[in-house]
Amino acid sequence: MAALGEDLLRVVNQLQDLVFNTIGTDSLDLPQIVVVGSQSAGKSSVLENIVGRDFLPRGSGIVTRRPLILQLINVEEDESEPDLHAAYRNPNQARRSEWAEFQHIPSRKFTDFGDVKREIEAETSRVAGNNKGINRQPINLKIYSPHVLNLTLVDLPGLTKVPIGDQPPDIEKQTRTLISEYIAKPNSIVLAVSPANVDIVNSEALKLARHVDPLGRRTIGVLTKVDLMDHGTNALDILSGRVYPLKLGFIGVVNRSQQDIQGNRPMEEALKAESEFFRHHPAYRNIASRCGTQYLAKTLNQTLMSHIRERLPDIKARLNTLMGQTQQELASYGDMHFSGKEHRGSMILQLMTRFAASFISSVDGTSTEISTKELSGGARIYYIFNSVFGSALESIDPTSNLSALDIRTAIRNSTGPRPSLFVPEMAFDLLVKPQIKLLEMPSQRCVELVYEELIKICHTCGSTELSRYPRLQAKLIEVVSDLLRERLGPASSYVESLISIQRAYINTNHPNFLGAAAAMSHVVSNRQERERKKLIQEERERREKKRLKELGANGTDILEDEEEAANEKSELVNPRKQSAKASRSMSPAVRENGAASIAAAVNGARSNSPNRLHSQPAGNARDSFLNYFFGKDGAASQVGGAGAPSPLPRHVSQSAEPTFSQSIRRGEDKLTHRPALPSSLMREEESPRTTNLGAGSQFVGDSSELHALSTLTSQIDNMEPALTEREAMETELIRALISSYFNIVRESIADQVPKAVMHLLVNHCKDVVQNRLVSELYKESLFEELLYEDDGVKKEREKCEKLLQTYREAAKIIGEVL
Ligand code: GDP
Ligand code: MG
Repeated sequence: MAALGEDLLRVVNQLQDLVFNTIGTDSLDLPQIVVVGSQSAGKSSVLENIVGRDFLPRGSGIVTRRPLILQLINVEEDESEPDLHAAYRNPNQARRSEWAEFQHIPSRKFTDFGDVKREIEAETSRVAGNNKGINRQPINLKIYSPHVLNLTLVDLPGLTKVPIGDQPPDIEKQTRTLISEYIAKPNSIVLAVSPANVDIVNSEALKLARHVDPLGRRTIGVLTKVDLMDHGTNALDILSGRVYPLKLGFIGVVNRSQQDIQGNRPMEEALKAESEFFRHHPAYRNIASRCGTQYLAKTLNQTLMSHIRERLPDIKARLNTLMGQTQQELASYGDMHFSGKEHRGSMILQLMTRFAASFISSVDGTSTEISTKELSGGARIYYIFNSVFGSALESIDPTSNLSALDIRTAIRNSTGPRPSLFVPEMAFDLLVKPQIKLLEMPSQRCVELVYEELIKICHTCGSTELSRYPRLQAKLIEVVSDLLRERLGPASSYVESLISIQRAYINTNHPNFLGAAAAMSHVVSNRQERERKKLIQEERERREKKRLKELGANGTDILEDEEEAANEKSELVNPRKQSAKASRSMSPAVRENGAASIAAAVNGARSNSPNRLHSQPAGNARDSFLNYFFGKDGAASQVGGAGAPSPLPRHVSQSAEPTFSQSIRRGEDKLTHRPALPSSLMREEESPRTTNLGAGSQFVGDSSELHALSTLTSQIDNMEPALTEREAMETELIRALISSYFNIVRESIADQVPKAVMHLLVNHCKDVVQNRLVSELYKESLFEELLYEDDGVKKEREKCEKLLQTYREAAKIIGEVL
């Protein structure tokens, strides 16, 4: 046998051994010989003969019920060279250094082949049951001997047609599938065993083999039971390849008969008898050298060899791929060669630095592991600033939580003991401050959200490498979390300051501020618009009514009566509307600025329908509105209910000291207003936003004096919550001013909070994270604890290392022969 051939087989067996023992699966798909054939064709017998030992359970029934992967390993014998022929030449020679091992009992060396047979039977039954069932899980057996060739052989259950015992109805199909799986691998050589005493055209083995190897390139035909053929017939035609073409040919063998087995006929004797048989048989005499087990073994070896030579480049390529994959996996666990104590510091430093870098890059959005499923890191922070915080600010309605009554109260309070010329300006200052406070909650929430996001980021900064050291990872996270928490306070209080600063000074000179005049004209034009619409509507209704009247429709009179009744009621219910009007005023500035447009509005309304104006009830909005600005006959006299009637036009009377009634009423506001209010109103007045108004909402004055006065003014009734025309006007004005100013502040907060958060929280943490980690964790005394290795990861890494070592060795082995 060529030395190269032996080398190749050794290589493959080494590889197989290496790969199989280390990985547990044949990931390299190494070449092997697979024995196929129908039940009782003699497959196990052929294998036994090749091994030269009696170790396989055999019989007439179904015996092989699990695949048996048999690895023959040639080991050197001290005295003599390992030699194929030795096994057969000296059958009775004591066979030292010959043993068998099962993969499922790795610790046990079998030296008695009878035990091997029994173990195969027991292991078969253990998995496949006792009653004829088959199982696809293989039994792995290695035979070490100086007398075997390095070969891997697979014995498979035979094909049967009729299910017996525990066999499922589809036993034939199952077996066929199992066999096909083994012989379909291009790395396997198919040993198609057919008995000579059955017509070859019925051979199941050849049928299966042809299916996976149609050109007959890797199929060896084995003809068993040549001794059992009918007298006068022979297998010469088949053996010479004339019946069925196979490139590797047919080899005839004579195995031990059942009788031989039962009689314990020694293997050596049987092999001798076989060779005698062919040498003396008249039909086979001339081809005797190409018949028999010995020749079969040689042929198999040669075939396997050339097959291996063919497959080796593929195997090498596959090996390289596996090596690359394993190397990559190993790299993900980090550099392993830090076992020495002197390296622990640099190891920790390195892991720390990577952690910090990963944190920073996640925050900056430059991380390589960017999720495509959800926003993360920097993008998420950007989203918090722009979408979450931005829309939270946008959604604040600066005046929706201010009821008309709140505003009226503020207006009244802000005037103090003296009437202000321009009440709304004072009230505006009073009211807008608490509104600015509305910006604080979303601003603080913004800080919190960014903080939470940073905490999340620091939890995702680990690597596979770091996961090896769970304690270090936990510590890193802890230190960064502490740092973040530390910064939460300053960021939060700075944001609080931002709001306080805004509240500290209401800059009505801000260029973008609407200003009283503009607000006034805004309100006026709004009102004007509403008035116009209302007039048009009224006119329409009037005409409609008139039309119906003319048509003589029923119920018209009733309609008119109702209208009159309603008007009367309105006058009764709203006596204070008139008195309140008298106690309110506008600053001269506003009068000057807004006068033109207001006058225009009023004149427009007046000229539209002067009669209607006069005939409107006292509570009518348009009417009072006009009275309020320009005075109107009778308007002042209506104040009489609250005190001395003022015959003067409003702008004259309002420039004077507060009237007696006004003083009284203010005092009364403080002392009796609240208890006198209906409970529903009171609740509103006592709600937090009202109390939020602060010191400005307190009444000024001598309470005892006012208390005395309050009895005199009991007829001045504050029960009525409805606003006077002037109050409504002022309320609207205030709302416009608050909105305008609030928008300025909102814009500024929307701009400043993200900047502050970035500076005080995000950027600060980014800047100091590395130093902080080092100062907290880079301590000799902590190294041991921090570098405690996770058991699971450790095992994985070790497995990976071993695997890589195996592949490297395998590559080296292949490198030697290629
Ligand atoms: P398997 O089911 O294909 O594994 O077949 P076995 O190897 O178990 O053999 C089945 C029966 O046929 C056994 O009793 C063997 O002794 C017998 N047998 C196998 N080969 C030969 C042979 O070449 N000559 C004779 N006379 N009997 C054989
Ligand atoms: Mg068998």
